[in-house]
Amino acid sequence: MIRVSSAIAPQETTTPAVVVRARVFGESDKIVTFLTRDLGKVTGIAKGAKRSKRRFVNVLEPFTHVSLRLRQRPASDLAFISACELLDAPRSFTLDLQKFAYASYILELTDRMIRGREAGPETYELVRDALGLLERSAPEPGLLRGFELHLLGLTGYEPSLDRCRRCGTALAAVDAVYAQPARGGLLCARCRGDGRTYVISRATLERLTLLQRASFAAADARDFVLQPGVAAEARALLRSFFAAAVTFPLASEQLLDER
Ligand SMILES: [Zn+2]
Repeated sequence: MIRVSSAIAPQETTTPAVVVRARVFGESDKIVTFLTRDLGKVTGIAKGAKRSKRRFVNVLEPFTHVSLRLRQRPASDLAFISACELLDAPRSFTLDLQKFAYASYILELTDRMIRGREAGPETYELVRDALGLLERSAPEPGLLRGFELHLLGLTGYEPSLDRCRRCGTALAAVDAVYAQPARGGLLCARCRGDGRTYVISRATLERLTLLQRASFAAADARDFVLQPGVAAEARALLRSFFAAAVTFPLASEQLLDER
């Protein structure tokens, strides 16, 4: 007879994480979604979080960077949060509405794009570093565009900015580059057909190519500054690259005044 010991506790894991969203559940618990370094996106329940100020002091709030200890439960998608320690909490987001809107957009877009535990450590690092750069610099629209480009790359939607999506011709060699808003790709004049397309400026393509490589670990947002005309064009183009995965607008966009 095989006996399964119930004395073996399920494994506890400790991982750094960013709090993506949190809500009160029942009388005193909280349900919190994290983007973790080691386990991807995880949702857990913090028992007594609302009452026990001592165990979870201000750590289960969106944007905070924490060290999370949790126990995964075999039959449930909801992990059990055993402990959570604060590593870093941005201070400027509660003082600056525009920064708050940017940070909310970053988390909401990440939440939409990442399903379950598929996210690797690079996605956690991207979100952590993007929030960190936003905390120490002005809210540049280019920060959001750079974030979108990096997130597309990490989720398998990396757009090709230098070749025609259909025939592969180098876009540097053609007279005009066309964007396809419904399908999110760049086309040469030959491939644009008679579908709905519009011309994208060279300046925008060049800036986006640089943003694809810009680092969020930088000291300031200098590399993310966009001229106003470029910023508007870049925003519309990036949006089209997400068309297959996300339905816009996101709730957090109500706060953004770049609409
Ligand atoms: Zn083509």
